[in-house]
Amino acid sequence: MSITLERPETTEKDATPIAVRPGRVEIHDVWKSYAGVPVLRGVSLDIEPGEVVAILGPSGSGKSTLLRTINHLETIDRGSVTVDGEFIGYARRGDRLHELRESEVLKRRTSVGVVFQNFNLFPHLTALENITAAPLALRRATKAEAREQAQALLERVGLGDKGARYPRQLSGGQQQRVAIARALALDPQVLLFDEPTSALDPELVGEVLSVIRDLADSGRTLVIVTHEIGFAREVADRVVFLDEGELLEQGPPSEVLVNPRHPRTQEFLAKVL
Ligand code: ADP
Ligand code: MG
Repeated sequence: MSITLERPETTEKDATPIAVRPGRVEIHDVWKSYAGVPVLRGVSLDIEPGEVVAILGPSGSGKSTLLRTINHLETIDRGSVTVDGEFIGYARRGDRLHELRESEVLKRRTSVGVVFQNFNLFPHLTALENITAAPLALRRATKAEAREQAQALLERVGLGDKGARYPRQLSGGQQQRVAIARALALDPQVLLFDEPTSALDPELVGEVLSVIRDLADSGRTLVIVTHEIGFAREVADRVVFLDEGELLEQGPPSEVLVNPRHPRTQEFLAKVL
């Protein structure tokens, strides 16, 4: 396995045609309820390969649930979610809902990396072992290859000298950077971030945002739930505003964040800005 961290140098002439470039996420009319209470109400969102999408919205609006459907951490009641045309989660086949087999889900999940708010590192593994765990479990690499790749990833996130540390021996910002390196270990084309800096002390936010900023230029598709409006404005190609399970507004940051159309987007931004 080889890990390509940088977007390959391409010219107009040899650029891969958009149609075959991986990382396209298509969310179509997704509905989801918990105990009869709708949490996602007909959300549709098409994300281009390499696009950076920031999802904004009040607490409880369904942001995490939506993000989790992209990696089959959440099933859906209706609609479809595909990554590069492959169904993830429950999918509509003709008139009936279709559930994927577990082994198939696991396989498809490897094309989508996730970074959670609370890092979720394995506490009993070192930073390096956290990163090698998935490639080794999936037999994607030999032990030596996996360690070499993990070391390169640690260097990429500025932690080349911290591989032997356990999560508890690292700061929150360092743990989150290890979590990002771990998410990259299977070289996914799509990366999901669920409020990656909201559990961090303010002085540690910058180091994590800077790693994500670098990834925004790596050609991967990034979907980022964040309350960091300035960051969204800087890195996102598109901002999406979710409220009460509905996608109310979307567009370039310069429009949605500067001149929001929907009153509820205006209200939300007035509170967080
Ligand atoms: P956000 O990430 O925007 O804060 P969530 O997607 O976490 O919102 O949650 C949306 C709504 O769904 C909330 O009302 C939340 O309480 C509810 N919810 C989320 N997960 C569950 C669950 N596992 N069981 C029941 N209700 C849930
Ligand atoms: Mg959330």
